Amino acid sequence: MKSVVDPNSIQFRLTVGMILASTLGISGFTGWINLRMRQILVESHKDNALMIADRLEQDAGLYEESMIVKEAVYMAIDYREQPDIAIWVESADGTLLAESNTLSMGSWQVNGFAKKLMTEVANRPGLEVFELQNRHLVTCSSQLKIDDQVIGQLYVVDDITEDHESLNRITRTLALSSLLAICVGAIATSLYIRRSLHPIRKMSRLAGDISANNLADTRLEFDKAPTEVQELAQTCNMMISRLSAAWDQQRRFVSDVSHELRTPLTLVHGYLQSTLRRSSNLTDPQKEGLEIAASEANRTIRLLQDLLDLARADGGHMRFNIEREPLQEVVKEVLETCNYVSGRIQPELTPVTALADRSRLKQVLINLIDNALKYSPDDRPIIVKLKPVGNYAYIEIKDKGRGIPLSDLTKIFDPFFRVDEDRSRATGGTGLGLSIVKTLVEGMNGTLKVQSKLGEGSVFTVALPIEKAKAQRL
Ligand code: ADP
Repeated sequence: MKSVVDPNSIQFRLTVGMILASTLGISGFTGWINLRMRQILVESHKDNALMIADRLEQDAGLYEESMIVKEAVYMAIDYREQPDIAIWVESADGTLLAESNTLSMGSWQVNGFAKKLMTEVANRPGLEVFELQNRHLVTCSSQLKIDDQVIGQLYVVDDITEDHESLNRITRTLALSSLLAICVGAIATSLYIRRSLHPIRKMSRLAGDISANNLADTRLEFDKAPTEVQELAQTCNMMISRLSAAWDQQRRFVSDVSHELRTPLTLVHGYLQSTLRRSSNLTDPQKEGLEIAASEANRTIRLLQDLLDLARADGGHMRFNIEREPLQEVVKEVLETCNYVSGRIQPELTPVTALADRSRLKQVLINLIDNALKYSPDDRPIIVKLKPVGNYAYIEIKDKGRGIPLSDLTKIFDPFFRVDEDRSRATGGTGLGLSIVKTLVEGMNGTLKVQSKLGEGSVFTVALPIEKAKAQRL
């Protein structure tokens, strides 16, 4: 089975590309939002601290008209203080003039926080954001003037830790939702790409099924597929048409050449035979020469006839006269002829009627029995079995010869293929016999199978359908 994830596939590359792009997009957007939120938070607190410093100065100016300066400053601080905001005023020599109640509250006193804060802030003039004891603070330091007189240094410190933590929580939620969105997006993208590539897979399957036999009738149709796939299918169809035309041309050429050569060769063969029969004054070497010429002419005529049969069958020009035939009778007729020559055939026939072309079936059986006789020793029997199996009639031709190597089993049906051992043999056929047998059997809607074991023998099985409607492939 193919591995589920193929790093070389378009599906994998597109999916990874889309996931990377969406990860970058989503995380970039989330990061930007987070940054902006932090900036807005800090800016708003800075504005607030500045505003408190400004207003406090105005308030203290107003109160000073009816009370002493120190009290006026305290009143102004009291008015402006909030739980998260600490305010104090120091004189030029560092003495604390006034402070808000918040500085003495529990949360500002933990670990001497208020003291450390005062020392730290003294070194940070103006508006600043900093961290102290894990607390985030915005500080604003400015001179406090009442009636143009400098009273001291005013410090406003805003504790933004809580807002900061809320922001962190929002950031975490955003990151989690982004991750979820990326995962859902990845699954959806993968499914979408898979769906989009479906026509290409279908096309590859269809192209894989094309063979010389169905070349002429095969067309790749993809009406609803994407434009690129339709274009590819069109190009493939044009290529198939060209291949089919070339294939037809080659078949016609073989058929024409075989036909043209067979007629004169038959004449030559006839002339050689009659010369051999009639001439009584030939010397032995002359006679031997003429016999060799006649036998070679005969072999070539058979080869041409085989080629002609193959070309006709491949081109669909061979007509089959398929009828319901009692196969035991057909097989018996063939065996009578063959046994007359060899006497080695043992029939095991169960009567069965099947759909077949009588004369083509005889041609098939003669070829297979001839091979069994040729490729097994003279003292071994050939078993010919006829039996019904399901919706088929099986005819088995079993020999106890040398068998066929496993690597050649699929090739023996190819035209001109002969097992190595037989290529060098002067006797034997042309290597076309089994191609013709297969073509004829398939022309009768049957199948041909072979089983073989080296040194033990071979079984060729012809399966012919018993009834038209019920016929299924072997
Ligand atoms: P040929 O004319 O050479 O017999 P075929 O097409 O009939 O050609 O067979 C192809 C090859 O398959 C043969 O050359 C032979 O090597 C092998 N073959 C066919 N039938 C048998 C068999 N019964 N036993 C062993 N080998 C066989």
